[in-house]
Amino acid sequence: MTASDDFIPFALPDIGDAEIDAVVESMRSGWLTTGPRAAAFEREFADYLGGGVTAVALNSATAGLHLALEALGIGPGDEVLVPTWTFTATAEVVRYLGADPVVVDVDPQTLNMDLAAAEAAVTPRTRAIMPVHFAGLPVPTTAIQELARRHGLRVVEDAAHALPARSEGVTVGTSTSEATVFSFYATKTMTTGEGGMVVTRDEDLAARIRTMRLHGISRDIFDRYRSTLPSWHYEVVAPGFKYNLTDPAAAMGRVQLGRSDAMGARRADIAGRYADAFDGLPVELPAEASEGDLHAWHLFVLRLTQDAPVDRDEFVSRMAQEGVGCSVHFIPLHMQPYWRDRYDLRPEQFPVATEAFSRVVSLPIFSSMTDEQVERVAQTVRKVLV
Ligand SMILES: *Cc1c(COP(=O)(O)O)cnc(C)c1O
Repeated sequence: MTASDDFIPFALPDIGDAEIDAVVESMRSGWLTTGPRAAAFEREFADYLGGGVTAVALNSATAGLHLALEALGIGPGDEVLVPTWTFTATAEVVRYLGADPVVVDVDPQTLNMDLAAAEAAVTPRTRAIMPVHFAGLPVPTTAIQELARRHGLRVVEDAAHALPARSEGVTVGTSTSEATVFSFYATKTMTTGEGGMVVTRDEDLAARIRTMRLHGISRDIFDRYRSTLPSWHYEVVAPGFKYNLTDPAAAMGRVQLGRSDAMGARRADIAGRYADAFDGLPVELPAEASEGDLHAWHLFVLRLTQDAPVDRDEFVSRMAQEGVGCSVHFIPLHMQPYWRDRYDLRPEQFPVATEAFSRVVSLPIFSSMTDEQVERVAQTVRKVLV
């Protein structure tokens, strides 16, 4: 084996024969675009979460966040609260609609949105809040709902990292939020390659999202082939988008969903092994889930302390030299040129995120890692930090 065969990548999807067989079966069936597998995936996803929610499948979480805000009527002149500690997708969808994201700092322990900072940023124009369950650690659900009620805000949860997760005993996706959006991007906790799901309790919202995901057509393709109206007939009721999930992708997703709890348990197991292995090292461990919470462990984020012999950038390159891929989550929005310049954001407005950014590093935590790989990552961290 060469050194490069030995490299442990930062992330790898956990795909087996069952996923491959399901995709091949879908291809042989003739359904290459949205069809019966996408519909089944939506039903199974809603059942998996429970609580009587409705699920609408899309070709990305970004599309889901966009259409959730669109269906809520967010538009020019509106403000939407987002954390600086997130991927740009959370904020960009607000701009798609001509509204303005208001970027807020994060909690020093969890790196989730600081809800006091969010509340302080509310203005008469604020219409919605988009909490991000960073790394899979849920934002406290009661505090979010109370804040939303006090100010009449809509809640769209960015749950791209949070399958499966629970906040105060409530499964993420089943709270009273207007919508919750999951990602099935290749590196996320379950994958369809590219894909996403919006979950809501509001049937009108779900109907609007279904229409807008496929050109603003009032009936989707699958229905057209089953309905008693002539199959060529459809009505365009809005200038919609092209955001539908394909059947081969949904076929992969149905198998992954069935493995979701087992994959989550494996990631939690890896997180526990890391926490034990890093005892005494110059690092801060990631925040743990509180009583009643379930952490999805999409990411394992260490913070190097002042005593560490190397800085973050050197740590990442030393790890790579030693055969371990690491990453950084996230470069905060306020440090990205577009957001910084468009909204005149300055580092001192985000003291927690600015400070944390210089010290964070994400270690590999994918469910198909072997025990031996986990051990090697842990030993390599020790080697670089001692
Ligand atoms: C990955 C991610 C998204 C976007 O998901 P896609 O399915 O790639 O569109 C949104 N928000 C966060 C926090 C993410 O990590």
